[in-house]
Amino acid sequence: MWCFNMRKKLLLGNWKMNKLASEAKEFAIASSPLVNKALKNNIDLGVAPTYLSLAQVKQHAHPNMIVAAQNVHFQTSGAFTGEISIPMLKEFAITWALVGHSERRTYDNETNEKCNAKVKALLAEKMVPVYCVGETLAEFEAGQTKVIVGTQVRDGLKDLTAEQVKELVVAYEPVWSIGTGKNASTEIAEDVCKFIRDVLKDMFGPIAEEIRILYGGSVKPENIKAYLSCPNVDGALVGGASLKIDSYEALLNNII
Ligand code: PEP
Repeated sequence: MWCFNMRKKLLLGNWKMNKLASEAKEFAIASSPLVNKALKNNIDLGVAPTYLSLAQVKQHAHPNMIVAAQNVHFQTSGAFTGEISIPMLKEFAITWALVGHSERRTYDNETNEKCNAKVKALLAEKMVPVYCVGETLAEFEAGQTKVIVGTQVRDGLKDLTAEQVKELVVAYEPVWSIGTGKNASTEIAEDVCKFIRDVLKDMFGPIAEEIRILYGGSVKPENIKAYLSCPNVDGALVGGASLKIDSYEALLNNII
């Protein structure tokens, strides 16, 4: 019988458009003892640097540090100016990528259909997508959260098999809470993450119990423990509070 706490906790920092490669390298070196600490406590630790810092971080971080791209294209090569492909990431041993972060949905027209193509391409290459979903403030206030998030999950993960989605990670990030300091209550986080798991169960069956679902949105050292105490929240995707090594360490310490 499956029990929720069999899912390994995951703390993933999203650096967005921050840090020079030299700064990213410094963080990577400093984070090594943290990865050892995380390993001892059965926690996965990771960061998503900018493309230009991926190689530096991969080279200088602990081998068990998860290093994720913030985006990826679904085609392997071709006339897509400004884009990066899966083989390009794999050449640098990068095997994780965020898909559909709300900033990309907002500024780069990342639709559920595009996300679906990216998730499929990543899973086909045995890579790990962190598929981000979440409603805007207007949608939240209109009581549309589950309609929006349900559609994002169903459309973004369309035509995948139960076997394929086992390694997938889903991140619930209410758009109104990202970078605003207005974090969702733990009740909201648990309710929506549970809803996501129910949708995943409906789509893929019992394997949904193995899929990690993260909460993201103004997570800080002071509130991370409360989120991770929710039965359906398996970790956190953290922006601002993941940028400084001290704060990143405090996030980890507070979930051990
Ligand atoms: C994010 O970028 O995914 C995020 C959740 O940002 P912040 O923690 O700064 O709200």
